[in-house]
Amino acid sequence: MKTFEELGVAAPILKAIQEMGYESPMPVQEEVIPFLLGEDNDVIALAQTGTGKTAAFGLPILQKIEVNLYQPQALILCPTRELCLQIADDLNDYSKYIDGLKVLPVYGGSSIESQIKMLKRGVHVVVATPGRLLDLMNRKTVDLANIKNVILDEADEMLNMGFTESINAILAEVPASRNMLLFSATMPQGIAGITRKYMNNPKEIVIGRKNEGNKNIKHIYYMVQARDKYLALKRIADYYPNIYGIIFCRTRKETQEIADKLIQDGYNADALHGELSQAQRDYVMQKFRIRNIQLLVATDVAARGLDVDELTHVINYGLPDDIESYTHRSGRTGRAGRTGISISICHVKEKGKIREIERIINKQFEKGEMPSGKAICEKQIFNLVDQIEKVKVDEDEIAALLPSIFRKLDWLDKEDIIKRFVSLELNRMIDYYKDADEIQVVDERSERRKDSGSDRFDRGGKRKANAEEGYTRFFINFGKADGLFPNQLIELVNKCVPGKVLIGKIDLRENFSFFEVEDGEANRVLKEMNGFEVDGRRISVEHAQGKKEGFGNRNGSGGYRGDRKGKAKEVQSFRSGSSRSGSRSGDKPWRRPSTERSTRKKSRY
Ligand code: AMP
Repeated sequence: MKTFEELGVAAPILKAIQEMGYESPMPVQEEVIPFLLGEDNDVIALAQTGTGKTAAFGLPILQKIEVNLYQPQALILCPTRELCLQIADDLNDYSKYIDGLKVLPVYGGSSIESQIKMLKRGVHVVVATPGRLLDLMNRKTVDLANIKNVILDEADEMLNMGFTESINAILAEVPASRNMLLFSATMPQGIAGITRKYMNNPKEIVIGRKNEGNKNIKHIYYMVQARDKYLALKRIADYYPNIYGIIFCRTRKETQEIADKLIQDGYNADALHGELSQAQRDYVMQKFRIRNIQLLVATDVAARGLDVDELTHVINYGLPDDIESYTHRSGRTGRAGRTGISISICHVKEKGKIREIERIINKQFEKGEMPSGKAICEKQIFNLVDQIEKVKVDEDEIAALLPSIFRKLDWLDKEDIIKRFVSLELNRMIDYYKDADEIQVVDERSERRKDSGSDRFDRGGKRKANAEEGYTRFFINFGKADGLFPNQLIELVNKCVPGKVLIGKIDLRENFSFFEVEDGEANRVLKEMNGFEVDGRRISVEHAQGKKEGFGNRNGSGGYRGDRKGKAKEVQSFRSGSSRSGSRSGDKPWRRPSTERSTRKKSRY
């Protein structure tokens, strides 16, 4: 294996990548770097994300920049804003020791004026989404006459997203004498069209086999009845207590529904889909990156810009309609040399698709056995024991408390203490699985299954949707993220419902809440509250009982959005002086700067 130096990487870049911990080139870098350092070379590289492709094209293009010429000399096209920012960030890191080198990300959804201003000041590398770049070209604010390198990153995704015409229009304006490199995880037909038209005798580099999935990924499928899909998902999540993964759903509606159900059942999850605003998506992605969220439920499109290397699992909640998407989904785990698991929870009707995917990735799926309740409890117990072994003890902090704790537990021996400690954490989980019927995976040949029953408890083992005796439990589509506190909920109910309503238990969640009222008041609460709005958003109150199975079926994009039919009365905002709009954007927590550990660098823009 060659060193970066032997590949021709120059000193200032070497210094920067050494600081980043790059010791030796990854295979794609070994192939691409020397080639792109040459002239008039075109490359088609079949490489999954996570193979080190950004440095493969980034290092040579940076090295070839003439810093004294304040004109774009390298152009990188990519499908999403997030990828655009990430590439620009990486290039800035690599060029840390090249004085004056300017990288500009241009993408839709942000101020075009400030991008124009930066272009006028002079930049060397433009990283762009095709639509925005074309817009800038039409305004004659970007000059591509000096471009020496063009990179099409995630070319298959750009074609999927309908950028073919824009790409053609852009490439037509780039000088013919330039290097061009096209990266793609798969090789659909459309790519051949681009390569024929714009590439000159391209060198083809395949990292792994053509269209083959990453070797570090294990592919497992569980074939279950449609009605057991969600229960199967929960079991899988329980079986991997340290799971950090993306659950892919097919539609925005399904994505929101599954995320809502998981949150309701006590999992650390959130949704990412196109119906959320850009600010909301950024907020969710950031929470996921810093591991404040363990399970991200996402659509294929929304997850595209998310770059996280450490995912332990990808879960396909049903197989994608487009088989090629499977490669993209599963390629999100097992990155940068790590191993990963791609799990598919599918229906027996999808059996054919499994075989088709196996052909494409050239790898066999394992047929998964649904973990039994006993196995899950064992996993959870050993995970807890493992945590006990590894926990860092802050001697100073607890020193003062220890004598009284020792005195109090003096009558218990070590074995008893361990038993109690473990039981304290796990009794509810054990109780839950003790009572829950096992889910049977479907026998593909006979399609027989034993009855699975249903999981009647939430993750913490709490019986769900059961109110206190004499009380009715309601769901409301406002939560902590809306600034709702218990006293405000009580006030809200009493503002909407004439007379005094006695409120029982209140359970505030992030985007929705539960509350209990006396049985005698239930009908009035249901009737009155649904006629009101807060800050232009319709209040939606429903019986919590139906939530377990039908939670997501209320109104399209998910639980917490109010239905807007009919005229509603306005009640005052929870926050005095708040000027929130009807959407979830407004005075929202994603404005709060996060001080928590981040696994990704902050963008400089
Ligand atoms: P990419 O495919 O460009 O998204 O890269 C995947 C990950 O590998 C990123 O976190 C890079 O920082 C990292 N990486 C790229 N090249 C190297 C290298 N030569 N040595 C170590 N890490 C690398």
